[in-house]
Amino acid sequence: MSDDASDRDERKPLTRLAQAGRKPEWTGMPGQPGAIVSPPVWRASTILYDDVAHLRKAAASSTHERLFYGRKGTPTAWSLADALTEMEPGAEGTMLFPSGVAAVACALMAVLKPGDTLLMVDSAYDPTRAFCKQILDSYGIETIFYVPTAVPLAVPLDGRRVRALFLESPGSLTFEVQDVPALTAWARANGIVTLMDNSWATPLYFPALPHGVDISILACTKYIVGHSDVMMGSVTANADWFATIRQTAYLFGQMVSPDDAWLAARGLRTLGVRLAQHQAGALAVAHWLKDQPEVARVLHPALPDCPGHAYWARDFSGSTGLFTFVLKGGDEAARAALIDGLAHFGIGYSWGGFESLALPIDPARYRSATSWKAEGPAIRLHIGLEDPADLIADLAAGLARFRAARDGG
Ligand SMILES: *Cc1c(COP(=O)(O)O)cnc(C)c1O
Repeated sequence: MSDDASDRDERKPLTRLAQAGRKPEWTGMPGQPGAIVSPPVWRASTILYDDVAHLRKAAASSTHERLFYGRKGTPTAWSLADALTEMEPGAEGTMLFPSGVAAVACALMAVLKPGDTLLMVDSAYDPTRAFCKQILDSYGIETIFYVPTAVPLAVPLDGRRVRALFLESPGSLTFEVQDVPALTAWARANGIVTLMDNSWATPLYFPALPHGVDISILACTKYIVGHSDVMMGSVTANADWFATIRQTAYLFGQMVSPDDAWLAARGLRTLGVRLAQHQAGALAVAHWLKDQPEVARVLHPALPDCPGHAYWARDFSGSTGLFTFVLKGGDEAARAALIDGLAHFGIGYSWGGFESLALPIDPARYRSATSWKAEGPAIRLHIGLEDPADLIADLAAGLARFRAARDGG
């Protein structure tokens, strides 16, 4: 969607969620009345042409979202991509990827060249950090990790070709909220492109482009899909960057399966109601945890103890289901005693599905510009769509197990 069109789009975000990406040519049959509601699954590798002239014409055309070859997608993926674009006012387009990590990697490869410097937030998702150190390093691209809440950035720019600033807000595991408008304004003034991993808030609670971000990245695996059954990533960019992102994605052969795109689009329609419920449940659990004697701190962007909470209050229209709490004292065994006996929380990676999860985390391993000092071990929770009263009762029993293990009871 062009800037003009999105400027004219006065629909509220929930209305856009219900309507986006449902073009008549993808939901109806030529010359026939009637249309289905959701664009169906179009599976394809080969596209057939009437004659050589049409084949040549299709090959010469650079038009986005036209049938050409399965790798360039079919209406199922285009519909999802368009819907994500419509959720980011000011976006030019969206490319889809087989995972969130693939989306991060391709976006970085699209903007960076050998000899460039990348400014990377210290609280970045661990595989993002590993990509910088293991892949970008080997291409002669330097990464400087910066303090998430620092404004302005205290990094030496002299003699460096700083090309890109990468944000993730709130940060993975430790949930620092960043001053996105200030950081993006600084970047723009210095000719630096900004990318942001926006998986936690999604464009529903934090549209990134209107806050100055050029390229917004989602691990769709989490809240867009929402049901723990599909891996996917997306990159949504403004008019300055979309063509570069699209071309890089094509050249890396990145695409998603039509079935996965269809499931993700189905998830997207209910993002509003799901996030509202994740938000309410997580706030109930977080506020309860904050008052427990075994808990030192709760790192939830909507709670004052969270670094950058004021930025969250200023910029975000909601909070979601993922946060961390720090225990008072205790060791690995005491933490495991808490987690292992939980009845309503799964133990595993990822998040964003309808089910609650508990994960032991050790942020110190993934920090270099900052240091993680904690009163005890930490646990990251994802609050699913269960009744929070059941989750709180479960955690209360867990804290009792933790206390017994910690105090040698
Ligand atoms: C999970 C996650 C990713 C990666 O997404 P995958 O689909 O698992 O590859 C990227 N960023 C954040 C913040 C995540 O939590």
